[in-house]
Amino acid sequence: MKIMIIGAGQMGSGIAQVCAMNGYEVFLHDLTLELVEKGRNGIKKQLQRQIEKERLTEQDADRFLQRIQTSTELRNAKNADIIIEAAVENMEVKKNLFTKLDSYAPAHAILATNTSSLPITEIAAATNRADKVIGMHFMNPVPVMKLVEVIRGLATSQETFDKVYSLAESLKKTAVEVNDFPGFVSNRILMPMINEAIYTVFEGVATPEDVDEVMKLGMNHPMGPLTLADFIGLDTCLAIMETLHEGFGDDKYRPCPLLRKYVKAGWLGKKSGRGFYRYS
Ligand code: NAD
Repeated sequence: MKIMIIGAGQMGSGIAQVCAMNGYEVFLHDLTLELVEKGRNGIKKQLQRQIEKERLTEQDADRFLQRIQTSTELRNAKNADIIIEAAVENMEVKKNLFTKLDSYAPAHAILATNTSSLPITEIAAATNRADKVIGMHFMNPVPVMKLVEVIRGLATSQETFDKVYSLAESLKKTAVEVNDFPGFVSNRILMPMINEAIYTVFEGVATPEDVDEVMKLGMNHPMGPLTLADFIGLDTCLAIMETLHEGFGDDKYRPCPLLRKYVKAGWLGKKSGRGFYRYS
């Protein structure tokens, strides 16, 4: 089975790595060769770390990397059995991609999206194969995190659901079935907590370090919410809050103005070198 991954950012490259490590041939696609090479180099570094920890041999790492072909041409979808889209969290971008992928991919191919919160049903409506469109929501970092939310759109067929559920299991992940509702389960619960943590900083209640310390030591969270927000990407956090706000029409999901300000400043978290914390 050939898997095409759209978007070679932190999620797309993680998904490509896990697919290659579990025996699948992968096309890793992004807008430019530079972006896709950046993603592939990230995978290389990840594998290198595994070699240093003696969890992987050089030969295995080479074998995994060889399974990942790079792509900047969406028409390569013609060779894929399943396409997992992990481009930016933006409905217009995703709809546009799905319309094109629908025209290039073979009739049997499943079109999955790794969206964190956008309606699967609406993305599916941009295609002529809504029965084969599904949410496959991996967690960050993909090679480490066990969960995949598998999200049924309104028209997703049982066959598509079963295939994607089995694919997740073959990647050694635990799949959980979820219906299509804003933020699904994971981000409906997680993101309002992160947004509230940002409000506590915005209102001067505590510093980012202290907010994170309270949640780690007081609630036994392995990582504070602001560190986690930086890892997720503040642009992605904002996009998810906007989806929740619009989807539920309830002001309890209003994105914190400080989150908006950071995104406007280009402080997107770890991936841009600065968010609530600085990264070198
Ligand atoms: P990212 O910014 O690291 O990567 C996005 C990549 O998509 C970039 O490399 C960009 O060049 C590429 N891209 C943008 N438009 C494209 C297009 N039209 N065609 C091909 N590639 C395109 O973002 P990310 O954190 O990897 O998030 C990707 C998706 O995964 C989003 O939908 C996000 O909501 C979802 N997601 C993110 C997380 C997380 O923790 N960051 C977790 C689960 C799901």
